[in-house]
Amino acid sequence: GPAPESTKEAQAWLEQRGRTFGLFIDNQWTEAGETFASTNPADGKELAQLTQATAEDVDRAVQAARRAQPAWAALGGHGRARIMYAIARLMQKHARLFAVLETLDNGKTIRETRDADLPLVARHFYHHAGWAQLLDEEFPGHRAVGVVGQIVPWNFPLLMLAWKIAPAMAAGNTIVFKPAEFTPLTALLFADICVQAGVPAGVVNIVTGDGRTGEAIVKHEGIDKLAFTGSTEVGRLIREATAGSGKKLSLELGGKSPYIVFEDADIDAAVEGLVDSIWFNQGQVCCAGSRLLVQESMEPRFLKKLKSRMDTLRLGSPLDKSMDIGALVDPIQRQRIHGLVEAARAEGCEIYQPSACEIPAEGSWFPPTLITGASTSAAVAQAEIFGPVLVAMSFRTPAEAVQLANNTVYGLAACVWSENISLALDVAPQIKAGVVWINTANQFDAACGFGGYKESGYGREGGREGMFEYLVPVSEDARPALPAV
Ligand code: NAD
Repeated sequence: GPAPESTKEAQAWLEQRGRTFGLFIDNQWTEAGETFASTNPADGKELAQLTQATAEDVDRAVQAARRAQPAWAALGGHGRARIMYAIARLMQKHARLFAVLETLDNGKTIRETRDADLPLVARHFYHHAGWAQLLDEEFPGHRAVGVVGQIVPWNFPLLMLAWKIAPAMAAGNTIVFKPAEFTPLTALLFADICVQAGVPAGVVNIVTGDGRTGEAIVKHEGIDKLAFTGSTEVGRLIREATAGSGKKLSLELGGKSPYIVFEDADIDAAVEGLVDSIWFNQGQVCCAGSRLLVQESMEPRFLKKLKSRMDTLRLGSPLDKSMDIGALVDPIQRQRIHGLVEAARAEGCEIYQPSACEIPAEGSWFPPTLITGASTSAAVAQAEIFGPVLVAMSFRTPAEAVQLANNTVYGLAACVWSENISLALDVAPQIKAGVVWINTANQFDAACGFGGYKESGYGREGGREGMFEYLVPVSEDARPALPAV
């Protein structure tokens, strides 16, 4: 079962704030206003009350960011790097507390938060501190955009924060950041880290709330750039709302990524890669390999192996480090996923779920699920399920694999498995996806640009490419200045 002592520090941090949080603006905590609850999806219990930030609150955060921006930019890359290295070290020092808090708030397993999320977060701050130091040499003729508004989803709360805040800080921008309403807690703990690391007042402002708070950020005239990660639907709204506003915009949206297995693939490695690709974080991953495309001659063997591997997946308390599958972020997600799977069943698809997989009585859970027999145009084959549900289809030729792989509105990621490297290298560039992994899955690094094609969005996060999202050429300064707010 869960180790209660491991949650002590996280519970103490929550208690110390009376389990009620205001907003973090100008390095100060505001009084809590109208609040909403954040709950632990593994048991449905309330963790804390968070403030629903109003348009006035967002305005205060933007004003603080505008006041702080000139001095933050003038501090120079080396000065900012010193502070960012301090953030990275503090994140490592408190990694356990962050990991437990993230697991409590999101429901993902402690193995993932401890071994994937937190190391990647620290790496992101170290890497971007490096870019801050190299700014003058590597990006001559560029300056910070100014004040950036950043809105993220709930699936990787802290990692998405790092993807957003680290490059923005490195480039000399100041920030108004909004975590998702389901998972705001680690962003608030991060605010404490900013104070400890010596981040000047107004550089990082954190406002909590739902889509209404997001809208207030999107519409605010004092924001020069918006960076959004979330659903394609909200991404489209933001695009419409900002059209003609002059705001710089980057969108990281949904996906329905293909996982292509050729008949000559190393079958055991490909099965293991698929488990990671679709069941990591309960499939609540934008680049999840949610469509298995397996070559016809290998299909029966592959599906048999996959089912026996599914039978060994352990679902249960996310704080128990032997668990593979944690809770879904919210019962709303469980309902939505359940509806999609039942619709597929009604259409005659075969649904496989491990029979030994016991679902806890409390909380929001969904077992690992494999759907076969779906037509390529079925909802489960086209829509982003964003849950632990894999849809399997087969193909005969490489050309058909490419055609099927590209047959969605998305283009975020793909995997290609083959021992014939010439075949893999021939197929990979034909797939319209921001990243194509060969004989592996879910490889992320701060040095590598990540982003989508088509309805998966535009702009890249990470590495040199990602830095350009937070910089503008000084030659553009011939334009009239933005009005003061
Ligand atoms: P969502 O779009 O519902 O919410 C994302 C964020 O936007 C939340 O903070 C939410 O409060 C805010 N928001 C909601 N309505 C808004 C509005 N009208 N204006 C401004 N902000 C608003 O998405 P979600 O359900 O939280 O996350 C799941 C989605 O995120 C999936 O589609 C997934 O693929 C995508 N995602 C993409 C990436 C990527 O890098 N491409 C990474 C992770 C998740």
